[in-house]
Amino acid sequence: METKLANAGDDILDEAAEILKSGGIAAIPTETVYGLAANAYDVNAVRAVFRAKGRPQDNPLILHICSVEMLYDIAETVQTLALKLAESFWPGPLTMIFPRKPHVPAETCGGLTTAAVRMPNNRFTLKLIERCGFPIAAPSANTSGLPSPTSARHVFEDMNGKIPLIIDGGECRYGVESTVICFENEDTVRILRPGAVTPEMLREFCHVNIDGGVLEKLAPDAKVISPGMKYKHYSPKAEVYILKGSTESDENYLSAKDGVKTGFLGFGDEKLTGDIVRFPYGASAEEQAEKLFSSLREADAAGCTEVYVRMPDTSGIGLAVYNRLLRAAGFRIIDADGGSDAVH
Ligand code: AMP
Ligand code: MG
Repeated sequence: METKLANAGDDILDEAAEILKSGGIAAIPTETVYGLAANAYDVNAVRAVFRAKGRPQDNPLILHICSVEMLYDIAETVQTLALKLAESFWPGPLTMIFPRKPHVPAETCGGLTTAAVRMPNNRFTLKLIERCGFPIAAPSANTSGLPSPTSARHVFEDMNGKIPLIIDGGECRYGVESTVICFENEDTVRILRPGAVTPEMLREFCHVNIDGGVLEKLAPDAKVISPGMKYKHYSPKAEVYILKGSTESDENYLSAKDGVKTGFLGFGDEKLTGDIVRFPYGASAEEQAEKLFSSLREADAAGCTEVYVRMPDTSGIGLAVYNRLLRAAGFRIIDADGGSDAVH
C-alpha cells in the first residue's frame, strides 16, 4: 500500500473523512502525539488499528470526540465532576474513563466495560471528527513499544506501507500522551497515566490520587485499571538508562564510558568529554516533554546503542516525562552519586 503524506487543511478533510467512513485508518495530528485513527464504532476498522501497530488486543483505545453530545452517546453516566473537568480542560490533553454504553464495541475498549474519552485540541482533527459524525478511536500512531510519534515523519517511519494517509499537522505541542483519569467518587479522581493536565491543575477541582503504576514497576501478574501500564513502552532500540546523580557525578560517569556509541539527553549545562552524542532535551519539564520521544528516535537513527537521560524534576508535566522515561528505560536508574552503578 502506498502511504500518502498531506498537510492538514480543508482540502484533505473530505479524503480523510471518506477513508474513515469507509472503514479505513489514517494518521492524524493532535496536541499530544500523532494518533492512528479509525471509526470507534466499526469493529473491523478498530482491528486494523491494532494490527498496524502490533498492539495487544487488551490494551484499550481512547475515543476522540468533538462535542459533549458525543460523550453522552458513549458514556452510560457522566458525573458532575466530569462535566466540570470537561468544561475546564476540553478540548485538551485530559482523557476520562466512563462506563460505556452497550453499542460501544468491546474491541475498541480492550474488552473492558468502560470507555476512555477525550476531546483533542487540534483544529483539523476536531473538524474531521465532526465531518465523520462518529468518535474516532486513536492510539498513538507508532509501532507498539517504540517511542510515540511527535511529528508526521515519525509516523512515516513506523507506518509507511501500512496505512493510506498521514496528515501532517506539524510538531505536537506537548509531545507526551494525554493524562488518563478515572473517577473514584464524586470528588476524587485517580491518575492512571500522567500528562500535560497535571495533578496540580486537577487539584483545583477535586482530590487527586496517583496510581501506584505511574512511577512503580508492576508485578507481571498485577491487576491494573489501565492495561497500557503493564506493557513495555516508548523504547528505542538503544538501551536507555536514567541518570539521577548531581551534574558533576553524571558528567564523570559519562566521561568514563568507553567502547559503545553513547547518546545523552541532558539539561544543557553538562560538560562532557569523549564521544558522547547529545540530543535535544532541555532544562524545563515542558521542553523535556516535547523532546523526549523525538530524541530517543534520533539516538537510534544516529546508531547509539546506549542512551543516558538525566532524571527530570517530577512536578507539573515532569511527572509525565518521568513516567515515560521509566518505561523507556525499563526502570533502570543509575545513581552516579551512590559511588557504584546502583541499577535498580
Ligand atoms: P494510547 O492509545 O497509546 O494513548 O494509550 C491509551 C491509554 O489509555 C492506555 O494506557 C490504555 O490502557 C488507557 N485506556 C484506554 N481506555 C481505557 C479504559 N477503558 N480503562 C482504563 N484505561 C484505558
Ligand atoms: Mg501509545
